[in-house]
Parts: sequence; C-alpha cells; structure tokens
Amino acid sequence: MCALLKVNDLRVKYQTFEGVVHAVNGVSLEIGERETLGLVGESGAGKTTTALSLMRLIPSPPGIIESGEVFFDGRALHELPEDEMMQVRGNQISMIFQDPMTSLNPVLTVGLQIAEVIVAHQGVSSAEAMRRAESLMEKVQIPAARSREYPHEFSGGMRQRIGIAMALACNPRLIVADEPTTALDVTVQAQVIELIRELRDELSTAMMLITHDLGVVGEVCDHVAVMYAGEIVEKGDLEQIFDHPMHPYTRGLFQCVPDIEEENSVIQPIDGLMPDPFHLPAGCRFHPRCPECLEACRTTVPPLSERDGHSVLCHLYAEGGARG
Ligand code: SF4
Repeated sequence: MCALLKVNDLRVKYQTFEGVVHAVNGVSLEIGERETLGLVGESGAGKTTTALSLMRLIPSPPGIIESGEVFFDGRALHELPEDEMMQVRGNQISMIFQDPMTSLNPVLTVGLQIAEVIVAHQGVSSAEAMRRAESLMEKVQIPAARSREYPHEFSGGMRQRIGIAMALACNPRLIVADEPTTALDVTVQAQVIELIRELRDELSTAMMLITHDLGVVGEVCDHVAVMYAGEIVEKGDLEQIFDHPMHPYTRGLFQCVPDIEEENSVIQPIDGLMPDPFHLPAGCRFHPRCPECLEACRTTVPPLSERDGHSVLCHLYAEGGARG
C-alpha cells in the first residue's frame, strides 16, 4: 500500500547564538491512509520539530531544514513553492496545537476563526463558511450559539475542542496533533482524546499523534515511533512496541508507567537526562543513560535492524549482537 505521508532522512537544526542544536537527525517514517502513528519520547526529543518541519512551519531563522524528503500522497512537499504549500496546510494536512489559548486569536470570535479557514481553502461565501463553522462546533459538542464568543470565554477543554473543529474544517486527510491534551486538566484529557478518536474514525482521517503519554498511544494509535535525541530509535505496530519493546530506551519508558493491576508495582525512572542538544554524545546518543551499554556504543553509531516491520537502532540487535 502506498503511504499517505512518507518522510525520508529529515534533518533539521537550529542555528543559535550559543551554537547549533541538531534537533532532528535523520528521521524517516510513513503513515498510511486512515492510520494513526504515535510519535513518543521525552520533551526535547525532536517530536514537535519533526511535525513542524514536514509542514514547513519551522521558524527560520533559527530553524534550518538541512535535508530530507517529504511526500504527501506522492507529492513532494519539500519541493513545493510556498503558495502551493499554503493550500496543503489546513486543507489536506492540518494541525491541532498543544495550547489552544496561544494558537487561537484572542480578538476574533471562535466562529469567525473557524470560518476563516473554510473561506481561505474552500472559496465559499462568508455566510456559508459561518454556517459550516457552527455545524463543526456542534460536532465537537459546543452549542453553535457560542460561535459569537471569544476564546477567553471558554474553558481549556472547550478551547481545545475549538482547535479540533478548526483542524477538521476542510476535511483534511492527515491531522498532526501535537500533545493535544498536555495543557488540559486531567479530568478533561480523556474526553478530548475520546473526541479526537471518534472524529478520526468518522472522517477516516490519518493522524500523527505526538505525545509522551504511552496510555494515550495504547488507546488511539496503531503504529508507534519512539524518538530520542532527534532520532527514531524504534518503530513498529502497536503490538510490537507494547508487547515486545526492544530498544533499552523504549523499555525504560514502559518501566516509568505504573502497573495498576500489580499491587507491588515499582516505577523505575530512566537514569540521567536527555543529552545537551548542543553537544550530542558520540556513538549511540542514548549510551550515557543505557543500562546495557557496550564498548562499541560509546564510539560507533548503531545500525538500524529490522524484522517484520519492527525496526530498532541498537547494537544489541545488529548482526552478531547479543540479541541479533
Ligand atoms: Fe544501549 Fe548500546 Fe543499544 Fe545504545 S546501542 S541503546 S547504548 S545497547
């Protein structure tokens, strides 16, 4: 099956006064039609930079897309002129941002903001766009009459629902959801995730869900890519990653999740911190924190090993390695 989104060897850096941050270091991934990929990892792993770069939304300066290819439905987005790219964004690929309070315009009513997207991409009249905006608000369970209110008049959960309505305004084929529940109260996180899942299924939309919450990944995604220091260190379908995690970092992430069925479950945090992005370690980027670090890991970049669509970047699984 041809992938809806295909990213090849994406490399992104930030040129700052303090030095160069290598934020994304050779990311390759695919998302098929109606598939949901969970992109997981700690803060600073490069997840958001990956998402923004494939939509060409990286602020430049300081961001620089050094190399890489992005194909959407066979179209080379990395070669599109900006005016054509603007027709892809919001129309065929849309984004749900982490904090709706900063992504919504505080001086425009929410109805107008949703209608603006529809007018820009679908060329309908303002009246028709407003009618569709109100119907979208009903879809995300907000009364249409509230379309004349401003963002500050809504709760955090409702603002995120409005962000979701905006993302759905043009029936996109792919939604990129960047930590859509992180800024919300725990009590409304589950409702918002459930809403995203229902609408994705109803509209048959593919999704890239960026999160550090493995519980959310288990609920929503069918494929998972684990990021660390700008690289995808493990990738596979949900069952492969949840039932047979291979990379020591992925296994460490699961050890940080409490097991509510196990009375004496112990959380084991991963030792150390994410590496300084100005000075990434040589060899395997994870080696200073890895409990299974080998001599080769300190100096040699691990090769990518793959079996049945489950890939891992680790010396342990290379040919001749302890688990190869
Ligand atoms: Fe650990 Fe080495 Fe594998 Fe890196 S390559 S995760 S340091 S065992």
